[in-house]
Amino acid sequence: MRQGGNRDTSKLLMERSVPGRAGCVLPECDVPSAPLPDGALLRDELPLPELSEPEVVQYFTGLSQRNFSIDTHFYPLGSCTMKYNPKINDETAFLPGFAGIHPLQPAAQSQGALELLYRLQEFLGEITGLPAVSLATLAGAHGELAGMLMVRAYLQARGETGRTKVAIPDSAHGTNPASAAMAGFEVVELASNSQGNVDLEALHEVADDSLAGVMITLPSTLGLFDTSIVEVCRIVHNAGGLVYGDGANMNALLGRVKLGDLGFDVAHLNLHKTFSTPHGGGGPGAGPVCATERLAPYLAAPVVAGAGADGYRLTAPESSIGKLAGFHGNFGVLVRAYTYIRTLGAAGIRSISGNAVLNANYMMNALRDVYHLPYDRACMHEAVFSADWQKARGAGGLEIAKRLLDYGFHAPTMYFPLIVPECLMIEPTESETRETIDEFVDALKRIDGEITQDAELVRSAPHTTPVARLDEAQAARRPDLRWRGG
Ligand SMILES: *Cc1c(COP(=O)(O)O)cnc(C)c1O
Repeated sequence: MRQGGNRDTSKLLMERSVPGRAGCVLPECDVPSAPLPDGALLRDELPLPELSEPEVVQYFTGLSQRNFSIDTHFYPLGSCTMKYNPKINDETAFLPGFAGIHPLQPAAQSQGALELLYRLQEFLGEITGLPAVSLATLAGAHGELAGMLMVRAYLQARGETGRTKVAIPDSAHGTNPASAAMAGFEVVELASNSQGNVDLEALHEVADDSLAGVMITLPSTLGLFDTSIVEVCRIVHNAGGLVYGDGANMNALLGRVKLGDLGFDVAHLNLHKTFSTPHGGGGPGAGPVCATERLAPYLAAPVVAGAGADGYRLTAPESSIGKLAGFHGNFGVLVRAYTYIRTLGAAGIRSISGNAVLNANYMMNALRDVYHLPYDRACMHEAVFSADWQKARGAGGLEIAKRLLDYGFHAPTMYFPLIVPECLMIEPTESETRETIDEFVDALKRIDGEITQDAELVRSAPHTTPVARLDEAQAARRPDLRWRGG
């Protein structure tokens, strides 16, 4: 499974260097030679590797193949929707008219690009049942912030300044409370009940005239459809609050349920999850905000207005919360999402959610006797297990996730949502075959067996990767990217 063949690709470039070897031939100098600058400005030694061009290409290609990617591995990272990204999306994003357009080009010269954005707004409004759409925000969390700033602006315009609280379920993605707090709200945690739904008793307790609204992820990050969601929206509305929807998990609902029909007032989508686009290295992304007509005046600028006498144009909604990013959002991601929607069509969009939910339930049922299911009911696009049975035998969620790397699978999301101990949150997505899911299930069963036989094998995994256990915080904050010698 591991790439790189038999060659030892772990040797650093510097270690392969052979004095005098060169990777290029410089052309004859065709300008007059000039004396070198003062010796004080020159280094005595400049240790650069001396290599042939193929060695350099093989080295860097080898490094790139050590990564796990959606094009090389099954990547069941729950909540992140790491689905296959059709290559036609890249082809359209790279069309010279789209890739080369300048964001300051006048609208008259940008009609094709603006029309694409306008149509994408319309599609997303249709898909969510929330017709007022701004594409300007660059990530899910960015969309959440925009949506909560809209809620605040709406309440302020109505003089409801006493509504300072936002209630958020304990299963929520960490960005939800962060976004509400950044928008100036006080965050109140909402308990989940034993089925994983919002606890209605707890909701009633906070539903008073200090409630600005709630932020609800649907399906929840437990991978469950909250069967009391209509009631949740009703309670919040009766109390005078608004319902924000975290639509990052729309993969489960596409073409079947519209957030607007359920009672949501405003939601964001993660185009880089649900509507494909390579993601995982921190972007680029797009987190459009979709809202009801009454929140339309507050959308982030710009939005694209429909074809009038001068064609499509960019406008700022009347009471807009303003610009939250440069220009029109991450245009390339928007082109990919548009292409994705157009290539699939309405029936294809609907089949995404059908297959995503089928794949997740198939996997969940294949594993249910071996891994503990804390919320034992039909799941949506992902299944949340606890590895507490395995932990009791000597290796928990982290170790199992690391051991999966040895089997050639990217690890699932671990330790999130926080309310499930030893959490393994697995999202197969719709784009994987039954055979792949079977192999993955088989690997998880084998790892369970290994824990019984020889827990140390799992505890010390991974055994096949170039490096084993990284300090993940330091790896993200102080990456070691440069050869320093010695
Ligand atoms: C991914 C995700 C987010 C945040 O999206 P980003 O684009 O990473 O900012 C928010 N909520 C849920 C449920 C998510 O899965």
